Amino acid sequence: MKNLPLWKRISLILMAGLFCGALIMQARSSKESPKSSSPGRVTVCLLSKDGTLEAPKTVDKVVHTEAEWMKILTPEQFRILRSSGTERPFCGGLLKNKSEGVYVCAGCGLPLFRSQSKFESGTGWPSFYEPVARENIAEVRDVSHGMERTEINCALCDGHLGHVFNDGPPPTGLRYCLNSEAMKFVGTPKPKAGP
Ligand code: FE
Repeated sequence: MKNLPLWKRISLILMAGLFCGALIMQARSSKESPKSSSPGRVTVCLLSKDGTLEAPKTVDKVVHTEAEWMKILTPEQFRILRSSGTERPFCGGLLKNKSEGVYVCAGCGLPLFRSQSKFESGTGWPSFYEPVARENIAEVRDVSHGMERTEINCALCDGHLGHVFNDGPPPTGLRYCLNSEAMKFVGTPKPKAGP
């Protein structure tokens, strides 16, 4: 580099700067632009009407266009599920929910977590130590925001749910960190009182 004339050194520095800038812009746009659903089939576990887990079943993925998702979801659900957004901590509607039931994907209704696996992590986001079935959660390496994390998506509709970390409680040692807006809660019906 020292042997190069000044104008060549400046050109090389400018080209390196432009290259890095292009890479950063590409990374940002891929993270912020809405994610498209990938068609195909996927093996997931559904819950039967009595709440028991069914055997893994291969079904068609839930696929919608961006315009269709915008009609199906609220703006905040769309921002999180379809654009990999994150809600502010301690603000989610399901953070303090302690009722018995199942948390399902707000985009497609796939069962994700049971209330029994919910725990208070102190992070400000609903946290679970295990999903209803590993098949129902797709994991993707996420290197956005200068961190290396494992993003979790709904296996059926590819909706962004949150992240999973290795600092959870027993028995799994995992902490599934969720956005409330990515889920809907379905409470377990209370048994009817006898006559
Ligand atoms: Fe889904």
